[in-house]
Amino acid sequence: MQNNNLKFIEVSRNNGVGYRVPYWELDSGHTGPRVLVTAAMHGNEIQSPEIIRRFNEIAQKELIAGSCILIPFCNPVAVHGRHAHIDFEVGRYYGRDQINNLNCSWPGDPNGSDAQRLSYALFNTVVQKATHCIDLHCWQSMTATTVLPQHDNPVSMGMATATRLPFMKYNTERKTKTRPEYPCILTEYFNDSGHPALAIEFSGQFLTHHHELENGTMALLNIFKSLKMMAGEPEGETKRPIIINDQQQINVTAPVNGLFVKSKCRLGGKVQKGESLGHVFSDTDITRHEILSPAAGWLFRYGRQEDSSRVADPLTAYHVYASAGETVATIIIE
Ligand SMILES: [Zn+2]
Repeated sequence: MQNNNLKFIEVSRNNGVGYRVPYWELDSGHTGPRVLVTAAMHGNEIQSPEIIRRFNEIAQKELIAGSCILIPFCNPVAVHGRHAHIDFEVGRYYGRDQINNLNCSWPGDPNGSDAQRLSYALFNTVVQKATHCIDLHCWQSMTATTVLPQHDNPVSMGMATATRLPFMKYNTERKTKTRPEYPCILTEYFNDSGHPALAIEFSGQFLTHHHELENGTMALLNIFKSLKMMAGEPEGETKRPIIINDQQQINVTAPVNGLFVKSKCRLGGKVQKGESLGHVFSDTDITRHEILSPAAGWLFRYGRQEDSSRVADPLTAYHVYASAGETVATIIIE
């Protein structure tokens, strides 16, 4: 029988208003890793809280070694705002913002911005106690689910391989450091402190997809099996993840301006050479321009989208009107 404790982390905002971040702490009663699983650090990436909720139900019964800390809503204020960051401004880019992007702000600052105060509270209560970290995010629905390990850390790579998610990608330029350089990304803090970590990007922001929730729950269970914290072998398609670094990829572009209409191909699925990926319906000459796959492979990106965090009106980022030359699919060559 596991000991499932609901706990809370106290945080105070710049304006003096306090709030609490709830989390579960599960302890098998046996020695083993202490794994931190974090989700919704960005408030519009909300498939992973439900993945953690499903995982917790199973882990309560099946955890046999070590312990875990499960935080489904790392950034509740951003979730309430239904956008990525606590202090969110439309059209502003937060990619490398170490002050307002929670994921870039570790270990935080008790007197800093709202994001820095939040990372400080999480860091000093749960982050420093953990030996491993799985940080769950979501990128836009055009890109397939991908696991992002630290390439020169064998445990991180082993965890990533165990997920059986569609794709794996890593940055070979980023070598593990002997100590973290602050402020940093959460997974960098772990890897540079000698603690294995990885991030997972699920497909689709602002919503949940049944398929992603199932895949995500399986991925977490598989990681815990690979760490011997649960019984059994990882499940899922044995050929996954496909390591993007090892494969050639081709970007398929729109031939003319118009609406990009997808065919029945599936993101993350296989396509044949010559198979229809869809067509562009031109608003200039109202003709249909079919787009055929130039090679056999797997669809890593599919659809017309731009980075919603970089446009003034995020909804326009999802508009399927493509400009000539714009990428509408990326195929990872077999
Ligand atoms: Zn994110």
